[in-house]
Amino acid sequence: MSNRVVEGRMVTAESLAELIEGESPMEATEIEDADRECPDCGGNVISVGYMPSVTAFVTGYKCQDCEWSETEED
Ligand SMILES: [Zn+2]
Repeated sequence: MSNRVVEGRMVTAESLAELIEGESPMEATEIEDADRECPDCGGNVISVGYMPSVTAFVTGYKCQDCEWSETEED
């Protein structure tokens, strides 16, 4: 399944990455379950890998229920 509901809105890998990063990624992989809980609300966290620029690859984490998000650079 590639589409998920985040904060009540349906997102794709690209729009999820955009939500986390604040701008459209050059490329985004599939949305995956991050297997962790949101530290703010205990909600389910999903992750997506994306490239904010040609030289960077980031894994973004996003809570499905609130505004919490986090990024990890690989
Ligand atoms: Zn949350």
